[in-house]
Amino acid sequence: MAQANDIIDVLHQSAQRRLDAMTLAADGPRAQAVRESFERLRGMVAHDTVVELRVVTGAPVAETLDGRVIVANESLADAPEGVRLFVLAHELGHVQQGHWRQVGDLYKRFVPGEVVQEATDRVAGPLGRAASQQAHRHEFEADAFALHALRKLGLTADEAFAALRHQGMQQDTATHPATRKRLASLRAAEAGESPEPVSNRD
Ligand SMILES: [Zn+2]
Repeated sequence: MAQANDIIDVLHQSAQRRLDAMTLAADGPRAQAVRESFERLRGMVAHDTVVELRVVTGAPVAETLDGRVIVANESLADAPEGVRLFVLAHELGHVQQGHWRQVGDLYKRFVPGEVVQEATDRVAGPLGRAASQQAHRHEFEADAFALHALRKLGLTADEAFAALRHQGMQQDTATHPATRKRLASLRAAEAGESPEPVSNRD
């Protein structure tokens, strides 16, 4: 007989399946460059955070799975260091801010018991909308964390904006706000952090 699973188990298993399907990058100068940037960040803003970095090849560029595993593509080694640091700091922000647990809490509110088809079908619409709203908020929070981390490493806010633009101007998706919105949100975060008003450059 199949074991009863709650939604937290299901999310965990699905993250593990995705992690298992990824290809680890060979040890070499590219993987090493990604690891070094990650260690710089970790030492500065997350030294006692439980987190594992896996450098991978193929897709994706970077993602946090299961709350404590950051996957980062070895191609980040070819990007300017500001971009690499921003991308990794953003993922570290997801870990540090407990976003995975918040995702679990949200799913659990919609699917409190055993995960069966009727239960998930019934809430699919509202759950999808709430999850998407939450995902967008998490993106803004992770970006603000990355901005803060870059500044602690001595980089400028402009390097953070450039890093976001470097990823291309994306439209809204279910999980990510459009780049334009992320830039605006980052500017607001910067204004909140800066002791002096900053001049507008674009
Ligand atoms: Zn993110």
